[in-house]
Amino acid sequence: MSVAFHGAKFCWMNGEIIETERALVSAMEPIHLSIFEGIKAYVENDVTNRGRLNIFQWKPHVDRLWRSAAVCGIKIPYTKEELLEATRKTIRANGFNMNIYIQPRIWPRAGAPEEVHIVIPVWTFETVLGKDNPRFSEERKFMISTWRRIASDALPPQAKAWANYGNSALAMREAERLGYDGAIFLDNRGFVSEGTGACIMTVRNGKVITPPVTASILESVTRESHLKTIPEDLGIPVEVRDITRVELYASDEAFLCGTGWEITPITSIDDLPLGKEYPGVTTKRIAEYYADAVAGKVEKRKEWLTST
Ligand code: PMP
Repeated sequence: MSVAFHGAKFCWMNGEIIETERALVSAMEPIHLSIFEGIKAYVENDVTNRGRLNIFQWKPHVDRLWRSAAVCGIKIPYTKEELLEATRKTIRANGFNMNIYIQPRIWPRAGAPEEVHIVIPVWTFETVLGKDNPRFSEERKFMISTWRRIASDALPPQAKAWANYGNSALAMREAERLGYDGAIFLDNRGFVSEGTGACIMTVRNGKVITPPVTASILESVTRESHLKTIPEDLGIPVEVRDITRVELYASDEAFLCGTGWEITPITSIDDLPLGKEYPGVTTKRIAEYYADAVAGKVEKRKEWLTST
């Protein structure tokens, strides 16, 4: 996926704001049980504009960070409120007035695994959301990866552990080598799982279908948000159930959803075009609504936003 991310001048590290290029640790640090979060703050009122920023779904993201820490045996020496303040400070230090991606990273220190490094780097990025955004409608050819999604008795797919992303990177490299824009994993049972860094939703006969958490997916904050808004706010029925590979090929529409990928429509899978129209009408409706929700234009979903 060709998403333009630009690193910011300042980040927060172990209690202070520093220049991002000074956020250095020893090459001897172990990294195999480190964890992270991926969070976005969007411009209020119009995601394609500049202005005040609100963090989307801070609480579920930070709750998941604490769950990931528990799974990997990491103790976070700050409160959730302190981490929010650190994030706000980072945003202020950089003077941001455009959409940003925030990625708190935590890893155990060499020789003292009960102590951790915590850094909060931030990037600006270009959204695919927003009415008539040409990036939204770009063609995206996906393949079913020959790599299976990590099984939950091998690594914890429900946690945001860096170790899981070796699996994603292999699938992404394979896709790029073969000329595709991205990959979809099957789980170890052979059912559709997720993308390399996003969940998948399909549309069939006007119904949105997405795999369950037990299909080796990350417990996605965006997916959970859509599971509320798609039926409750848009009146579109949603089913959470296993999806077969054949069903995926036969779907009318499919899109990836997640913090990074936002709503990214898929044109074809294994060179088989999906549906009659691209992007599909349902995908477009959901994306427009999501753009409004993250921008604070949906009154009943404003509670999902945290001011910065
Ligand atoms: N699956 C994977 C493997 C991911 O890395 C992500 C991005 N965090 C997602 C799904 C989507 O999760 P979220 O909506 O919480 O960003």
